[in-house]
Amino acid sequence: MRYVVFDDNRLGLVDGQEIVDVTDVLGVTAGGVRGPLQSALEADALPVTLADPRCSSAPRVPIGEVTLRAPLPRPGKVIGAPVNYFAHQEEMEWPTTIAQLGVFLKASTSVIGPTDQVLLPYSDVRTDQEGELAVVIGRRARDVRREHALDYVLGYSCLLDITVRSTEDRSTRKSFDTFTPIGPWVVGKDEVGDPGNLQLRCWVNDELRQDVCTSDLIFDVPLLISYASSVMTLEPGDVIATGTPAGVGPIVDGDRIVVDVERVGRLEVGVSADGACPYASRPGMHLAEGPATVS
Ligand code: MN
Repeated sequence: MRYVVFDDNRLGLVDGQEIVDVTDVLGVTAGGVRGPLQSALEADALPVTLADPRCSSAPRVPIGEVTLRAPLPRPGKVIGAPVNYFAHQEEMEWPTTIAQLGVFLKASTSVIGPTDQVLLPYSDVRTDQEGELAVVIGRRARDVRREHALDYVLGYSCLLDITVRSTEDRSTRKSFDTFTPIGPWVVGKDEVGDPGNLQLRCWVNDELRQDVCTSDLIFDVPLLISYASSVMTLEPGDVIATGTPAGVGPIVDGDRIVVDVERVGRLEVGVSADGACPYASRPGMHLAEGPATVS
């Protein structure tokens, strides 16, 4: 099942070229900034399928006539996985993995949806695209064993972990507003099957930059959930960005970024430098010691 959030906080199921608007038949509340998919999860209303008798009386609308939103516009947590593909590890010349680095958090306010734009914060510091598979947690999870980890998954989505290449901690470099596009929907795990056998591709304009199978993940999805849940309680609607493969590169004003994950979907967003400022103009810059080095 593909769950979409569209227009003014409506929750839908995708059926071919139509969306079945299940907001009212499921009694889902709009959910404010966290959205109706989050409120459906918290009301234990998911999973639901088109075979559910309540769907037969739900209104339908052509998918081309709605505005798709981020399925989870304000997740409780966005957990990131550093250096989690073997080829990206070589590219970064970084001998460590999650085993040494742990996971990191991105601000939940960095999430945008399929019709939004990535805004570059600095006019003179490189910002990169990182195409990733996102895992959406469906049930509260704490200290979950690897072999049971997928029981706690609602489904999957496409995600971009946009990153400034500068010296700050990851949580800063990856938490600018608009730096976590998610969508265009969440696909239920049963429809996706093995998350360790999905082809992931990412284009910037017509250039194919990233092309990998998730079998190349260092911490695969179950191990990543197991590890993250050993640190923090995972809650329904939390998002785990599973890491990016080789091929990260700079994005500039006017670019179009596409991330496509097999059996999950295709997310496309634009890039704008509107409002970008010089790096040296950031608050507190006068306290910086020595020249900045780019990592
Ligand atoms: Mn990443």
